[in-house]
Amino acid sequence: MNYYSTNGKAPMASLEKAVVKGLAEDKGLYMPERVKTLPQSFFDTIDQLSFQEIAYTVADAFFGEDVPAEDLRRIVYDTLSFDCPLVPVTDSIYSLELFHGPTLAFKDVGARFMARLLQYFIKKEGGKGEVNVLVATSGDTGSAVANGFLGVDGIHVYVLYPKGKVSAIQECQFTTLGQNITAIEVDGVFDDCQRLVKSAFMDADLNAHMQLTSANSINVARFLPQAFYYFHAYAQLKRMGKADEMVVCVPSGNFGNICAGLFGKRMGLPVKRFIASNNANDIFYKYLQTGHYDPKPSVQTIANAMDVGDPSNFARVYDLYGKSHAAICQDISGATYTDTEISATMKDVYARTGYICDPHGACGFRALEASLQPSETGVFLETAHPAKFKQTVDQILGGDIEIPAKLAAFMQGEKQSVAMSKSFEDFKHYLLSR
Ligand SMILES: *Cc1c(COP(=O)(O)O)cnc(C)c1O
Repeated sequence: MNYYSTNGKAPMASLEKAVVKGLAEDKGLYMPERVKTLPQSFFDTIDQLSFQEIAYTVADAFFGEDVPAEDLRRIVYDTLSFDCPLVPVTDSIYSLELFHGPTLAFKDVGARFMARLLQYFIKKEGGKGEVNVLVATSGDTGSAVANGFLGVDGIHVYVLYPKGKVSAIQECQFTTLGQNITAIEVDGVFDDCQRLVKSAFMDADLNAHMQLTSANSINVARFLPQAFYYFHAYAQLKRMGKADEMVVCVPSGNFGNICAGLFGKRMGLPVKRFIASNNANDIFYKYLQTGHYDPKPSVQTIANAMDVGDPSNFARVYDLYGKSHAAICQDISGATYTDTEISATMKDVYARTGYICDPHGACGFRALEASLQPSETGVFLETAHPAKFKQTVDQILGGDIEIPAKLAAFMQGEKQSVAMSKSFEDFKHYLLSR
């Protein structure tokens, strides 16, 4: 299958090119040229299938023309080495827990899939040397990418992060891994890290010296696999006899996660409607109200993975709905919450049900509770484990949330990182010496 650019000024790309390049030449985002509808028989029996079986069917619809069945099946099964269970919070609201992977956040699914697909392409090309993945992170992306690629043959990952600007829990998730992961501690802010990575991709000497690739979240191999768990959520609801009017609420930042769900609906998944829940960064919410997309600098909130002022995947949502505001509004509604509202929701949910929402999931729960009709069943995506935001969660709930063993294990590892100035010449010199 070919991939076109949302900006419409770049040539069509093969899956391999779209995955290796990430962004199209005209700076647009790649979109699959067709979205296949899955047969009714699949939905009729989906409740009898495992998560991996469901995911393979979905993956085959996107990638089956480009990756042989046996390889694709192995990639999907290896990616989903953990479950995404649907957990009841109230009688009609369920939490789709996406935090059972290695770094306890949903980004594990896309990062693990991309690592394995990239490895498949490298092997197919006869393993022409090592591929180097450069990723700049303000925290969560670096850990998902580093762990997703950990131990994957033929790929070396460089994670650039700003010194002293990521939490201790986040830092240990990519600095203690060793093997094919190198953490680079940049004496600067996140924007410096991003600039170093972008400059590296454009530098002729470096590109002649080594093969460079980005594992940015806009990569089709990271965003499309996120559709898997929407189908799995439906299957779990169907098993309970509650799937007839499914409403899905997605705590959204760059809108990659919800966009994958919208692709799922386009493939025939019976979702009645979607809600995109925002924190105070309400660009999309405003777009729904006014029809105008008006990006702004982001503001800092306690749901910080959603602090995005110009959501990159808006271009994909817009394109998927034929650039029609009315069509978008038919499938998606919005919500926006202040930090005060988010923490009040976390307290309220915990007091009423005993369930601990992380600040992102709390935005999802609240928007469902505000709009759910009696005949509907709501599912919100719990995008990360609350212990990843221990300080915030403890402060709000007045408790001492337990750190899961998986997270604690990272914290016992020894930190290894390379100190780097924010000058590109230093970074380039370092890479050339590798
Ligand atoms: C990345 C992230 C989000 C936002 O997801 P998008 O795909 O960017 O909309 C929400 N919650 C958590 C915990 C995240 O890490």
